[in-house]
Amino acid sequence: MKPPEFIRIRNYIDGTWCDQDTAGAIPLYNPSDGTVIGEVPLSTAAASTAAIASAHAAYDPWRRLPIGRRVKFLFDLRRAMDERREELAVAIAVDQAKHISEARGEVQRVVEIIETACSIPTLIQGETLEQIGANIVGRVVRQPLGVFCGVAPFNFPALVFGWFIPFAIGVGNTFVFKPSPQSPFFMHKMCEIFGQIGLPPGVVNVVNGDHVPTTAWYDDPRVRGICMVGSSPTARRIAEAAGRAGKRTMLLGGAKNYLVAMEDLQWDLFIENYLNSCYGSAGQRCLAGSIVAAVPEIHDELVERIVAASRKMKIGSALDPDVHVGPVISAEAKARIEAAIDTGVTRDKATLVLDGRNPAVPEAIRGGYYVGPTIFTGATPEMTIVQNEIFGPVVAVMKIRDLDHALELIRGQEVGNGACIFTQSLYYTEKFIAEADVGMVGVNVGVPAPHPYLPFGGIKQSLVGTDKAQGKDGIDFFTQNKVATVRFAPPAAGRHQASCGKEVAPKTGAVKSCTAS
Ligand code: NAD
Repeated sequence: MKPPEFIRIRNYIDGTWCDQDTAGAIPLYNPSDGTVIGEVPLSTAAASTAAIASAHAAYDPWRRLPIGRRVKFLFDLRRAMDERREELAVAIAVDQAKHISEARGEVQRVVEIIETACSIPTLIQGETLEQIGANIVGRVVRQPLGVFCGVAPFNFPALVFGWFIPFAIGVGNTFVFKPSPQSPFFMHKMCEIFGQIGLPPGVVNVVNGDHVPTTAWYDDPRVRGICMVGSSPTARRIAEAAGRAGKRTMLLGGAKNYLVAMEDLQWDLFIENYLNSCYGSAGQRCLAGSIVAAVPEIHDELVERIVAASRKMKIGSALDPDVHVGPVISAEAKARIEAAIDTGVTRDKATLVLDGRNPAVPEAIRGGYYVGPTIFTGATPEMTIVQNEIFGPVVAVMKIRDLDHALELIRGQEVGNGACIFTQSLYYTEKFIAEADVGMVGVNVGVPAPHPYLPFGGIKQSLVGTDKAQGKDGIDFFTQNKVATVRFAPPAAGRHQASCGKEVAPKTGAVKSCTAS
């Protein structure tokens, strides 16, 4: 399937494509060859305000719809995505340049998230505690709040839609979403789907641009919560502004993830997972492995094996099915990653055993933003290549003494998104799960992304605040609980009987001869 000739991204507000309230447009690039393939509007704060007004107006009728009818829209969304899954995958592969096989995987994951959100009538159920006192019941109900706003990072344009919107709207909220200006094409396609399934206008609005439209979110009392997935500095900025305005937040930040290789690892399993974890999405994943910590018994063999396997990775266009590593997102990202490799050599003085700068690619795609697999050895904790999130296919290999040493290094990190161990030992496994100071742990798994029924999120600077995405955590974030205390006393004596047939007391409702009172 071919993308359109020119992709003109537009805002989608109140169920309508809109062009007003923008301050020009920026080019949209195809990172696979560096060509301009479209344009993205730079929305002003006024565009956000119009979207918030639409979402606010849609909220009351939307939340009052019987829950089964709201969930029916999620079923329709899932079916429409399923029918258009290849078109959606191509949309991701075109502007985000995620390799087409991974883009298909991302669409599949979103379908699974929507399937989980279809259980909202079960997931949202509250709690009841009977007989707190005589004929007194306590009841906890979960209710929507109103309008939520959210921003997505460039690297998961579909997944982050899945973390926010099915849960937010399924429980009865409405939404204003701002995609990354570097990868807006997927959400553009989703807006077509919202129209196709007849989602009521205003339930989901999409405003494009840089950070400017988000400035309208903080002081608007109609906005009840803000969510973001992106780098840790952006998460902190949003946390400060949202905190001042008293809004609830879900803010997932940056990462730097260890793959710990123990002496009893299974080599095939490790190599396969290493390649996927470190070079999948060209290393632009929040759960990408970027530090390999190997015990002395296997360190040298590991370096030999990963260098050999990495050399075989074919680099090229995201739409070429034979390619293993696609481009990075932009010319700036390529320059930043190459500068980080330079620093690794000149300042850190790590040993560059595989240099991915300026890899050979076919003439037709020379304008693309390519960095090949890159491996440093001799890395130590104070080096920039170990401390900074490079967000490219760059790996630092460290020789560790033992598992305690790996755990100490992971504890010392400012971030704590994921960490994986490769071992057959039950002792290593359980100790790692218990003590690795991160939010998501993998055992013989290179990308420890939890399934949609389970929470997704890190700790420390990888999660600013406390709220994680998807599953029950998604329900908790997008609802507020209310507690009702109910006394069901009869209005007058003698007119009501308890189920035991005895008379009940006036006002209190106590059953006279059945209770201590
Ligand atoms: P980014 O922080 O530059 O941008 C993320 C989004 O925030 C974009 O839509 C951007 O336009 C917007 N934004 C930027 N500044 C803003 C501001 N001041 N106020 C409001 N919005 C603002 O991140 P990116 O480069 O798009 O994405 C890569 C980063 O995202 C990496 O650090 C990666 O680790 C992280 N990430 C984390 C997770 C996770 O689950 N923890 C998942 C994916 C990506």
